[in-house]
Formats: sequence, C-alpha cells, structure tokens
Amino acid sequence: MRAICISTGNELLLGQTVDANSAWLSRRLAELGVIVSEHRTVGDEAGAIARVILQAAQEADWVIVTGGLGPTPDDQTREALAEAVGSPLAEDPTSLAQIEEYFARMGRAMPPPNRVQARLPKGCQPLANPCGTAPGILGRLGRCQAALLPGVPSEMEAMFEQHLAGPIAEAAGGRAILTHTLRCFGTGESQIGAMLADLMQTGRNPAIGTTASEGVIGVRLWATGDLPEAARQLLQESATEVRRRLGVLVFGEGDQTLAEVVGGLLRKRGKTLALAESCTGGWMAKAITDVAGSSDYFLRGYVTYANQAKTEVLDVAAELIALHGAVSSEVAEAMAIGCRERAGSDYALSVTGIAGPTGGTPDKPVGLIWLGLASPDGVATRELRWNPTLSRESIRSRTVQAGLNWLRLVLLDAANLNQPKKVRP
Ligand code: ATP
Repeated sequence: MRAICISTGNELLLGQTVDANSAWLSRRLAELGVIVSEHRTVGDEAGAIARVILQAAQEADWVIVTGGLGPTPDDQTREALAEAVGSPLAEDPTSLAQIEEYFARMGRAMPPPNRVQARLPKGCQPLANPCGTAPGILGRLGRCQAALLPGVPSEMEAMFEQHLAGPIAEAAGGRAILTHTLRCFGTGESQIGAMLADLMQTGRNPAIGTTASEGVIGVRLWATGDLPEAARQLLQESATEVRRRLGVLVFGEGDQTLAEVVGGLLRKRGKTLALAESCTGGWMAKAITDVAGSSDYFLRGYVTYANQAKTEVLDVAAELIALHGAVSSEVAEAMAIGCRERAGSDYALSVTGIAGPTGGTPDKPVGLIWLGLASPDGVATRELRWNPTLSRESIRSRTVQAGLNWLRLVLLDAANLNQPKKVRP
C-alpha cells in the first residue's frame, strides 16, 4: 500500500512553518505498514490543491491532506476536495451540531464564520474533531481514499489515531515496516558507509541508511515484513551484524545521547565525575545534567575561561600557561588533575581549545582542542583538530561529544589512559 501526504498553506511555502505534519504521518504510516512515496506541499489555493489531490489519487491508495480546514477565506481545502470529487459542498447537520457544541462547552456562541466548517462535499464523510472546531473529511477518488485533516499538529494527530489508524492498518493487512537506529561516534559517515557497504545496497531488506549530525552518525535500519514478527526478526539480525562490524563505534540506539550512555556507565561502576571546561563554557556540564538522575554521579563543573581562573580554581601553574599557552596538552592535563583533586571525583575531564572564528594562529589554528582526563588509573590528554571552517557552535558541540565519547571508551576499557600522548606539532 502506498500513501502520499499533502500539506497545504502559504506559510509552508514561505518557509515560515516546517512541515512537521508530513514527517509525523510518515513515521506513523510506516508503523502501520504503509509506504509513503511522496510529500507534496501546496499553497492556499483551491484549484492548485484540487490538482495535487487528483494527481496523488492516481498514484496512491491513501492521500492524506493537512491544513486549510479553518473558518477563514484562506482555508481552501474543503473547496479543493469538492472540485476534485466533482460534488458541491453542502452543510452537514451533525458536523454543525458538533461545532456548536464545542463553543457551548467553552460558554460561547458559535461565531458565524465557523459555520462554513460544517460544509463538506456531497457523498463524503465527516471526521469528528475531538480537540478543535474543524471536522476532517473522508472522500473517495476511484480506488483512493482521501482524508482531510486540520493543520494544527495536535488535532491532526488525535484525529488520525481516532479515525484513520484502524482502517489503514486493516487495509495494510498486518504488513509492518519497523525501524531501528544505532547511534555511533568516532569516525565519519563515509567510513561507516564503507564498513556497511554491502548491507546498504538498494533493494535490500532491511534497508540501511546513515545520517550525520555534529559528529554523531545515525545508522537507520528499516525492515518490511508481511507480519510484524517477520520484520522484527529481520531488523534484529541486521542490527546485530551492524553492531558486530562497528564495535565500540556504536554508543547507543534510538535517541540515546552520549551523556546518557556515559551516565549509565558511571552509575553502573559506582564512579563520580567532575568537569573543567574552558572553550565549551559549561556545555559538557549541561549535556551531563540534561540526564535525569545525573546527581548520582556528577559532582561539579568548573567553567575556567580566563587563564587566571584556571590558576585560581584548578591550581594550574601560571608558568605552565605562560610556557605552553592555555590551549596545550600540558594545560589540559593540569586542568584535569586540578579538577579531580578539588572535586574529589573519580574521573575529571577537562577541555581547552580555540572555537573561533577569531583567536587562531598558524601554530594553533581555530578548531584545535586539547582534552584531559584524570582518573584513578592516571592522566592522559587528547588532541582534536576540527575543520577551522566549521562554525563556533559546531566546533564546541563536536568537542562536547568527543570528550564524552573518550570518557565512554575509558569506562568501557576500550581506551587506555596510559597510551603514549600525542606529540604536539
Ligand atoms: P484551524 O481550523 O485550527 O485553523 P486548519 O486546518 O485551518 O486548522 P491551518 O490554518 O492550515 O489549519 O494551520 C493551523 C496551524 O497549524 C498553522 O498556523 C501551523 O502552525 C500549523 N500547521 C499547519 N500545517 C502544518 C504542517 N504541515 N506542519 C506543522 N504545522 C502545521
């Protein structure tokens, strides 16, 4: 079964609203076993919407249109469906009573313009709206069912669940499309693509694709089966194979964050963490404390931006900074040691670097970062070199992820703190 989502509204075409409705519908339809073949967006003009509905109805079993069911003249979707099915609009007494009742519940009389929302093409069926005034409409165009839903996401979602999810799942005959995402850090998207090349070939079931965001690579698996169990099994087999190939590059699944995973490992091992941040300005502490329950393992974070703060708060010797510069392996190491001693934590992670766009030199360009990690097993530093053309935001965000990932690998025993330090250029 195929579906096409049509979103309507000039604000979508102007880029003022992002089409979240089609994204939500696509995810939901996939769960019900329906492939969404296209998203189409059209402005507030009945003729244009009617044309798009008619074209889509030639190609899909279900067409779901969102938006344009309000009471104002720019709400044109009712007229568009009337044009597409070739039936005039007529007032539906049941819908009118429901709209009046909606206003009565709020202690108000129905404003006259809302009356138009009770109109639907003859032969079509109204879909009651439990949370707003605009009823939806269900119509048939040949073999295709066309459903009109309001644009407001909460109303659209509630009405989809109430009126459409059941019949669509039934028509899909139990066929299931299941997805699973593995989240990776530590190498680029192309490297992961190369490691999974044969699994990513077009036409394979499950289909596998990658996405990248601030250094985190998502490997998305997408399995289709005649029954949910068959799809689940295929998904599981492929996910196991992907995990086997990528090893510790995989840090989590679904929407898990590195901070959650690191937090889970610290809790499991009964260890505590403190942070000493310069160029990330507290971002790492924010990421760690975004996780509920992080007070179990996170003791404190220091934002030591100025050299003097590094000296006063973390006992970094002023001479060390004068000799090597604040962005150096030596200072990252001293920050981590000072942080661990001051906080009394098991682990202390430090970060110092040049996030740009200013402040770089030929010797120490924008994107150069030093991380330090002090632990019961010793102290080590790591150099990161981000592309200097990345934004300040991106350099800082990736640094946070890289720092957390290093800590993850150490906690997993996959990175050795006694390994030789990288020599500074
Ligand atoms: P209402 O009767 O409540 O006005 P409607 O069917 O007329 O509903 P629209 O006027 O088209 O819906 O949209 C109402 C609001 O819903 C928009 O201002 C926008 O905030 C949101 N919206 C509409 N379409 C989308 C979409 N495709 N994705 C995300 N939000 C949307």
